[in-house]
Amino acid sequence: MRPVDGVGETPALPGKGPYRTVPWKIQGETMWRERPFWQDILKEIIEWRTLELREEIPKPRPETRRALRSLLAHPFFSPHARTVEAALWDPYFPLGMIRRTILADVTGMRFFINKTRPDIQEALSLQVAAAADLFLEAKRDLVRVADPKTVTCVPLDGRLHPLPSGGWCRLCGTCCQIGGVQAEPPPGVGYPPRWVAMIEGSAHPHQQLCPFLFQYFGRDIYFCAIHRIKPRACAGFGPEDCARCRTDIALHERDP
Ligand code: SF4
Ligand code: SF4
Repeated sequence: MRPVDGVGETPALPGKGPYRTVPWKIQGETMWRERPFWQDILKEIIEWRTLELREEIPKPRPETRRALRSLLAHPFFSPHARTVEAALWDPYFPLGMIRRTILADVTGMRFFINKTRPDIQEALSLQVAAAADLFLEAKRDLVRVADPKTVTCVPLDGRLHPLPSGGWCRLCGTCCQIGGVQAEPPPGVGYPPRWVAMIEGSAHPHQQLCPFLFQYFGRDIYFCAIHRIKPRACAGFGPEDCARCRTDIALHERDP
Protein backbone atom coordinates (compact mmCIF):
# COMPACT_ATOMS: atom_id res chain seq x y z
CA MET A 1 0.00 0.00 0.00
CA ARG A 2 2.22 2.75 -1.24
CA PRO A 3 0.82 6.24 -1.74
CA VAL A 4 0.81 7.27 -5.37
CA ASP A 5 2.30 10.73 -5.18
CA GLY A 6 1.97 13.58 -7.57
CA VAL A 7 -0.64 12.05 -9.88
CA GLY A 8 -3.74 14.12 -10.46
CA GLU A 9 -3.45 16.09 -7.23
CA THR A 10 -6.61 17.92 -6.26
CA PRO A 11 -6.33 21.57 -5.25
CA ALA A 12 -5.07 22.28 -1.74
CA LEU A 13 -7.58 21.81 1.05
CA PRO A 14 -8.97 25.07 2.34
CA GLY A 15 -6.62 26.34 5.05
CA LYS A 16 -3.14 27.72 5.14
CA GLY A 17 -1.06 24.60 5.58
CA PRO A 18 0.90 22.33 3.31
CA TYR A 19 -1.95 19.83 3.06
CA ARG A 20 -2.93 18.23 -0.24
CA THR A 21 -5.14 15.30 -1.04
CA VAL A 22 -3.43 12.71 -3.18
CA PRO A 23 -4.68 9.52 -4.79
CA TRP A 24 -3.86 6.40 -2.82
CA LYS A 25 -4.16 2.94 -4.32
CA ILE A 26 -5.47 0.24 -2.04
CA GLN A 27 -5.98 -3.21 -3.58
CA GLY A 28 -6.51 -1.74 -7.03
CA GLU A 29 -8.97 0.93 -5.83
CA THR A 30 -8.11 4.59 -5.74
CA MET A 31 -8.93 6.41 -2.50
CA TRP A 32 -7.96 9.91 -1.49
CA ARG A 33 -5.82 10.68 1.47
CA GLU A 34 -3.91 13.62 2.75
CA ARG A 35 -0.20 14.24 2.63
CA PRO A 36 1.15 15.02 5.13
CA PHE A 37 -1.27 13.11 7.31
CA TRP A 38 -2.48 15.13 10.31
CA GLN A 39 -2.24 12.13 12.63
CA ASP A 40 1.45 11.71 11.84
CA ILE A 41 2.05 15.35 12.73
CA LEU A 42 0.07 15.03 15.97
CA LYS A 43 1.94 11.85 16.90
CA GLU A 44 5.21 13.68 16.30
CA ILE A 45 4.11 16.55 18.55
CA ILE A 46 3.07 14.08 21.26
CA GLU A 47 6.40 12.27 21.05
CA TRP A 48 8.50 15.44 21.14
CA ARG A 49 6.48 17.17 23.87
CA THR A 50 6.55 14.01 25.98
CA LEU A 51 10.34 13.91 25.78
CA GLU A 52 10.56 17.62 26.60
CA LEU A 53 8.40 17.17 29.69
CA ARG A 54 10.46 14.18 30.81
CA GLU A 55 13.60 16.26 30.41
CA GLU A 56 11.88 19.05 32.38
CA ILE A 57 12.03 21.48 29.47
CA PRO A 58 9.12 23.77 30.39
CA LYS A 59 8.53 25.37 26.99
CA PRO A 60 8.20 23.51 23.70
CA ARG A 61 11.24 23.65 21.43
CA PRO A 62 11.05 25.50 18.08
CA GLU A 63 10.63 22.26 16.09
CA THR A 64 7.74 21.19 18.31
CA ARG A 65 6.11 24.60 17.84
CA ARG A 66 6.64 24.36 14.08
CA ALA A 67 4.90 20.98 14.02
CA LEU A 68 2.02 22.44 16.02
CA ARG A 69 1.67 25.35 13.58
CA SER A 70 1.47 22.84 10.78
CA LEU A 71 -1.24 20.85 12.60
CA LEU A 72 -3.26 23.96 13.41
CA ALA A 73 -3.19 25.05 9.78
CA HIS A 74 -5.25 21.99 8.94
CA PRO A 75 -8.90 22.86 8.29
CA PHE A 76 -9.99 20.27 10.88
CA PHE A 77 -7.94 21.99 13.58
CA SER A 78 -7.88 25.68 12.70
CA PRO A 79 -11.30 26.30 14.34
CA HIS A 80 -9.95 24.78 17.60
CA ALA A 81 -6.44 26.23 17.41
CA ARG A 82 -6.34 28.06 20.75
CA THR A 83 -7.84 25.17 22.68
CA VAL A 84 -5.67 22.49 21.13
CA GLU A 85 -2.50 24.55 21.58
CA ALA A 86 -3.27 25.32 25.25
CA ALA A 87 -3.96 21.66 26.02
CA LEU A 88 -0.97 20.23 24.14
CA TRP A 89 1.42 22.50 26.03
CA ASP A 90 -0.09 21.73 29.43
CA PRO A 91 2.12 19.40 31.51
CA TYR A 92 -0.95 17.49 32.76
CA PHE A 93 -2.69 16.92 29.41
CA PRO A 94 -2.80 13.16 28.78
CA LEU A 95 -0.81 13.17 25.55
CA GLY A 96 -0.06 9.47 25.81
CA MET A 97 -3.72 8.61 26.29
CA ILE A 98 -4.66 10.44 23.07
CA ARG A 99 -2.10 8.28 21.28
CA ARG A 100 -3.37 5.11 23.00
CA THR A 101 -7.07 5.70 22.35
CA ILE A 102 -8.26 8.19 19.73
CA LEU A 103 -5.31 7.57 17.41
CA ALA A 104 -5.01 3.84 18.06
CA ASP A 105 -6.59 1.15 15.93
CA VAL A 106 -9.46 -0.68 17.62
CA THR A 107 -9.52 -4.45 17.75
CA GLY A 108 -12.68 -6.18 18.91
CA MET A 109 -13.77 -9.81 18.86
CA ARG A 110 -15.21 -9.52 15.36
CA PHE A 111 -14.13 -6.15 14.10
CA PHE A 112 -11.14 -3.97 13.45
CA ILE A 113 -11.16 -0.20 13.00
CA ASN A 114 -8.23 1.22 11.12
CA LYS A 115 -7.89 4.78 12.36
CA THR A 116 -6.29 5.93 9.11
CA ARG A 117 -9.57 5.36 7.22
CA PRO A 118 -10.24 8.58 5.29
CA ASP A 119 -13.95 8.70 6.16
CA ILE A 120 -13.38 8.95 9.95
CA GLN A 121 -10.65 11.58 10.01
CA GLU A 122 -12.88 14.55 10.75
CA ALA A 123 -14.64 12.68 13.58
CA LEU A 124 -11.27 11.74 15.10
CA SER A 125 -10.05 15.32 14.92
CA LEU A 126 -13.21 16.44 16.72
CA GLN A 127 -12.51 13.87 19.44
CA VAL A 128 -9.02 15.32 19.91
CA ALA A 129 -10.47 18.85 20.09
CA ALA A 130 -13.13 17.70 22.58
CA ALA A 131 -10.49 16.05 24.79
CA ALA A 132 -8.50 19.30 24.77
CA ASP A 133 -11.55 21.43 25.54
CA LEU A 134 -12.85 19.27 28.40
CA PHE A 135 -9.40 18.85 29.91
CA LEU A 136 -8.94 22.63 30.03
CA GLU A 137 -12.36 23.06 31.60
CA ALA A 138 -11.61 20.42 34.26
CA LYS A 139 -8.21 21.98 34.96
CA ARG A 140 -9.69 25.50 35.28
CA ASP A 141 -12.24 24.22 37.79
CA LEU A 142 -9.62 22.32 39.74
CA VAL A 143 -7.14 25.17 39.89
CA ARG A 144 -9.96 27.27 41.33
CA VAL A 145 -11.34 24.83 43.87
CA ALA A 146 -8.84 22.03 44.22
CA ASP A 147 -7.30 21.43 47.56
CA PRO A 148 -4.69 18.68 47.23
CA LYS A 149 -5.71 17.37 50.63
CA THR A 150 -9.39 17.02 49.76
CA VAL A 151 -9.78 16.85 45.96
CA THR A 152 -6.63 16.10 43.96
CA CYS A 153 -3.69 14.11 45.24
CA VAL A 154 -1.05 16.68 44.19
CA PRO A 155 -1.07 20.46 43.81
CA LEU A 156 -1.71 21.38 40.16
CA ASP A 157 0.81 24.20 40.08
CA GLY A 158 2.93 22.92 37.19
CA ARG A 159 5.71 21.74 39.49
CA LEU A 160 6.78 18.16 40.17
CA HIS A 161 5.26 16.99 43.44
CA PRO A 162 5.54 13.38 44.55
CA LEU A 163 2.42 11.36 43.90
CA PRO A 164 1.07 9.21 46.73
CA SER A 165 3.02 5.96 46.77
CA GLY A 166 2.76 2.58 48.38
CA GLY A 167 -0.49 1.49 46.76
CA TRP A 168 -0.92 -1.48 44.44
CA CYS A 169 -2.06 0.70 41.51
CA ARG A 170 0.79 1.59 39.18
CA LEU A 171 -1.13 4.52 37.61
CA CYS A 172 -1.06 3.16 34.08
CA GLY A 173 -4.46 4.72 33.32
CA THR A 174 -5.78 1.66 31.48
CA CYS A 175 -8.92 1.39 33.61
CA CYS A 176 -9.80 5.01 32.79
CA GLN A 177 -9.84 4.30 29.03
CA ILE A 178 -13.62 4.33 29.17
CA GLY A 179 -16.30 6.57 27.75
CA GLY A 180 -17.82 7.38 31.14
CA VAL A 181 -18.76 6.05 34.53
CA GLN A 182 -21.74 6.66 36.80
CA ALA A 183 -21.05 9.91 38.65
CA GLU A 184 -22.03 8.78 42.10
CA PRO A 185 -19.85 10.74 44.53
CA PRO A 186 -18.58 9.46 47.87
CA PRO A 187 -20.69 10.25 50.95
CA GLY A 188 -20.73 13.92 51.89
CA VAL A 189 -19.65 15.12 48.44
CA GLY A 190 -21.78 16.67 45.67
CA TYR A 191 -20.53 17.12 42.12
CA PRO A 192 -21.56 20.21 40.11
CA PRO A 193 -23.98 19.20 37.30
CA ARG A 194 -21.30 19.91 34.71
CA TRP A 195 -18.92 17.47 36.40
CA VAL A 196 -21.62 14.81 36.35
CA ALA A 197 -21.80 15.13 32.57
CA MET A 198 -18.01 15.18 32.27
CA ILE A 199 -17.63 12.04 34.38
CA GLU A 200 -20.48 10.23 32.63
CA GLY A 201 -19.11 11.04 29.17
CA SER A 202 -21.93 13.28 27.95
CA ALA A 203 -20.35 16.72 28.37
CA HIS A 204 -19.47 17.07 24.69
CA PRO A 205 -20.85 15.39 21.56
CA HIS A 206 -17.36 14.09 20.74
CA GLN A 207 -16.19 13.18 24.25
CA GLN A 208 -14.17 9.96 24.38
CA LEU A 209 -12.13 10.29 27.56
CA CYS A 210 -12.71 11.19 31.18
CA PRO A 211 -11.37 14.76 31.41
CA PHE A 212 -10.17 14.19 34.98
CA LEU A 213 -7.50 11.76 33.84
CA PHE A 214 -4.26 13.77 33.91
CA GLN A 215 -0.78 12.70 32.86
CA TYR A 216 2.20 13.37 35.06
CA PHE A 217 4.74 15.44 33.12
CA GLY A 218 5.12 13.14 30.13
CA ARG A 219 5.81 10.05 32.26
CA ASP A 220 3.82 6.84 31.73
CA ILE A 221 1.92 7.88 34.84
CA TYR A 222 -1.73 8.89 34.77
CA PHE A 223 -3.56 10.13 37.83
CA CYS A 224 -7.12 10.97 38.70
CA ALA A 225 -7.32 14.71 39.25
CA ILE A 226 -10.27 14.18 41.61
CA HIS A 227 -8.65 11.23 43.32
CA ARG A 228 -9.89 12.06 46.81
CA ILE A 229 -13.49 12.49 45.69
CA LYS A 230 -13.58 10.16 42.68
CA PRO A 231 -16.87 8.40 41.86
CA ARG A 232 -17.71 5.33 43.89
CA ALA A 233 -17.29 3.01 40.88
CA CYS A 234 -13.73 4.28 40.42
CA ALA A 235 -12.89 4.24 44.14
CA GLY A 236 -14.18 0.68 44.45
CA PHE A 237 -11.99 -0.61 41.63
CA GLY A 238 -9.75 -3.17 43.32
CA PRO A 239 -6.73 -5.32 42.45
CA GLU A 240 -8.88 -8.09 40.95
CA ASP A 241 -10.74 -5.64 38.71
CA CYS A 242 -7.39 -4.19 37.74
CA ALA A 243 -5.97 -7.58 36.74
CA ARG A 244 -9.07 -8.34 34.67
CA CYS A 245 -9.08 -4.91 33.04
CA ARG A 246 -5.43 -5.08 32.09
CA THR A 247 -5.87 -8.40 30.29
CA ASP A 248 -9.36 -7.77 28.86
CA ILE A 249 -8.97 -4.30 27.48
CA ALA A 250 -8.83 -5.19 23.82
CA LEU A 251 -10.52 -2.15 22.39
CA HIS A 252 -7.45 -0.02 22.06
CA GLU A 253 -3.72 -0.45 22.02
CA ARG A 254 -2.49 -2.19 25.11
CA ASP A 255 -0.20 -0.53 27.61
CA PRO A 256 3.06 0.60 26.13
S1 SF4 B 1 -5.53 -0.57 35.33
FE1 SF4 B 1 -4.92 -1.12 37.43
S2 SF4 B 1 -2.79 -0.36 37.61
FE2 SF4 B 1 -3.70 0.67 35.83
S3 SF4 B 1 -4.51 2.58 36.67
FE3 SF4 B 1 -6.18 1.10 36.69
S4 SF4 B 1 -6.14 0.22 38.76
FE4 SF4 B 1 -4.17 1.24 38.42
S1 SF4 C 1 -13.00 9.96 37.61
FE1 SF4 C 1 -10.84 9.54 37.91
S2 SF4 C 1 -10.66 7.33 38.28
FE2 SF4 C 1 -12.72 7.75 37.41
S3 SF4 C 1 -12.48 7.42 35.17
FE3 SF4 C 1 -12.13 9.61 35.60
S4 SF4 C 1 -9.91 9.79 35.88
FE4 SF4 C 1 -10.43 7.63 36.07
